[in-house]
Amino acid sequence: MGPGPINADPRVLRAMSAQLVGQYDPAMTGYMNETMALYRQVFRTANEATLIVDGTSRAGIEAALVSLIEPGDVVLVPIFGRFGHLLREIAERCGAEVQVREREWGTVFTPAEIEEAIIQTRPKLLAIVHGDTSTTLAQPLDEIGEICARHGVLLYTDATASLGGNTFETDAWGIDVVTAGLQKCLGGPSGSAPITLSPRAVEIITARKSIEAGIRAEGDPVIAQPIRSNYFDLAQILDYWGPKRLNHHTEATSALYGARECAVILVEEGIPAAVERHRLHGTAMVHGLRALGLTLFGDQSVKMTNVVGVEIPAGIDGDGARAAMLGDYGIEIGTSFGPLHGRVWRIGTMGYNARRDTVLLTLAALEQVLRRGGVAVTGGSGVGAALDFYAGEATAA
Ligand SMILES: *Cc1c(COP(=O)(O)O)cnc(C)c1O
Repeated sequence: MGPGPINADPRVLRAMSAQLVGQYDPAMTGYMNETMALYRQVFRTANEATLIVDGTSRAGIEAALVSLIEPGDVVLVPIFGRFGHLLREIAERCGAEVQVREREWGTVFTPAEIEEAIIQTRPKLLAIVHGDTSTTLAQPLDEIGEICARHGVLLYTDATASLGGNTFETDAWGIDVVTAGLQKCLGGPSGSAPITLSPRAVEIITARKSIEAGIRAEGDPVIAQPIRSNYFDLAQILDYWGPKRLNHHTEATSALYGARECAVILVEEGIPAAVERHRLHGTAMVHGLRALGLTLFGDQSVKMTNVVGVEIPAGIDGDGARAAMLGDYGIEIGTSFGPLHGRVWRIGTMGYNARRDTVLLTLAALEQVLRRGGVAVTGGSGVGAALDFYAGEATAA
């Protein structure tokens, strides 16, 4: 019940134990095509270029940024948590001239602030996190795509923490490139990074295509400034996933089975239903935590559905309490990074773990841990408040 990774759906684990097949076996290329179609639904996009980068979420971020950014490009990174700093760091390593705007952790940007920063810095690319798990907040993006389009700016976002459990609309929000991972709301293991690219982004990346010697055909262009990573070269990866099937890496077969199954489960449930399930159990957790007397961290109006930050009560050893939750109850909760380490716990209700039983057991265990730490709590208050909330929702429905 931490901020991710979370327990994988057992169906995903079973899918990953299937036998390997060759990378050009029609079964394998068929799975790749199916996975592309499934993730178009997950990302809510018509983008042809929707595929999996092999590696954790960070691999998706690196692939997107190294393929889009040419040294010297101006990249604007609005930062409201730890993962914004990661985007800045990666963009810098790609040779970008990075312009940063920062908000205090626990808040997000207004569209007007972002537009003003665009006008001041004239970037080629705006790189921004959607849900930053470090603070539990999601930057509203529904107006940002239109602003970027008006100023001729490409828009990239990292939706690792939010995708599948929060409303996310790649096309309707006008986002060019989105990357994610499986270990949050998608209920899978880390190690696969779904990515989608708009035709405009594909055009920019394809113009930088430099095909490796050894598989290069006569007449293929050789580019003076190729994309600076071979493994994360999306121009070549697109040819591997596309009809050319030009060899690049060997697609991570078991990971692909897992990524495919995560999307199958989500599409079967229905994306609005999955978002609603995350809202329901995330809100039940919030009611329970408040009834335990805990104070929530950050601007609750923009909190992600799937994770909540709580201030660690005075007198409690935050890491000791986490160890007790894990040791006595087998329940993992998280702390946070940097300025929030030891100040805030993060409790997730995501993917396979966004369920009523997990919410109630976590609240019951946390009550005992708080009590043993000397915090005055009313017996049964957390579980009771969550049950009352569930009952109210059932009546409303
Ligand atoms: C959890 C998370 C990641 C994780 O990246 P990995 O490479 O999979 O560890 C990246 N970005 C955001 C916003 C996250 O919440």
